[in-house]
Amino acid sequence: FDVNAAPIIGNDQQLKGVVLVFHDITELKKLEKTRRDFVANVSHELKTPVTSLKGFTETLLAGAMDDEELRKKFLTIIANESERLESLIYDLLELSKIEGEQFRLQLAETELEVIVDEVFMMLQKKASKKSISLRKKVSGTGRIEGDTHRLKQLLINLINNAIMYTPDGGEVTVRIKEQAETVVLEIQDTGIGISKKELPRIFERFYRVDRARSRNSGGTGLGLAIVKHIAEAQKARMTVDSEVGKGTTFRLAFYKEFPASNGEEANKPVS
Ligand code: ADP
Repeated sequence: FDVNAAPIIGNDQQLKGVVLVFHDITELKKLEKTRRDFVANVSHELKTPVTSLKGFTETLLAGAMDDEELRKKFLTIIANESERLESLIYDLLELSKIEGEQFRLQLAETELEVIVDEVFMMLQKKASKKSISLRKKVSGTGRIEGDTHRLKQLLINLINNAIMYTPDGGEVTVRIKEQAETVVLEIQDTGIGISKKELPRIFERFYRVDRARSRNSGGTGLGLAIVKHIAEAQKARMTVDSEVGKGTTFRLAFYKEFPASNGEEANKPVS
């Protein structure tokens, strides 16, 4: 509790009493701790690639540069670590934008199938490297009122994860099912799965089931936090089913018509 005290002085200048105001600051303290933890996590996540960049550069300058094989090996590590750093900074900036008070969706008519095609094209190379087939099953138009750019970002993160956490030779299937008022989007993989215990935590910033695996695959630990915010902004209902060793399915139900009653939640298109 935070306590403020003020004396009550009468007309005769005598002390008549004291007003005590108790503020329950539990929530405030919790928020402060979350913020502090976040800053500590970010610092750690940024420090790791920077330490590695510094170390390999110094080793190269100290003489490893003269050995062609070592030079190639170290420069590849430097290139990969720079890329990680870039993704991390990009995701951090995106998250801070989406979490910011100024954030509004830019609503427009959006075809989910078109976005899925674009994302498949972007990630085809990555999937092929692991002999993972990308499949799409569509029933209905899959047309919703949504923020095309953000929905693409959501799909990139979910399909990228599906590929990342699925062993070679597996399958990633995206389904679009039109229903009366909603369009359901499913991203199903035949991957490693997530245990019941871990499932509630995967949307937390920087939470990873297997830190090393995520790092090695270029994960930032922020992908699902971004997905959660976009789904919430779209007022979509999201559920996850998973079985360890079998696979995971993320399911999102989007309203065909964005249910903004007062127009405050998003920028409606001018019709
Ligand atoms: P990352 O960059 O580590 O993938 P995310 O926020 O995207 O971070 O995901 C958080 C964690 O959830 C991952 O590290 C992984 O352990 C788990 N995860 C996410 N998607 C899947 C999936 N399709 N299959 C299995 N595990 C997953």
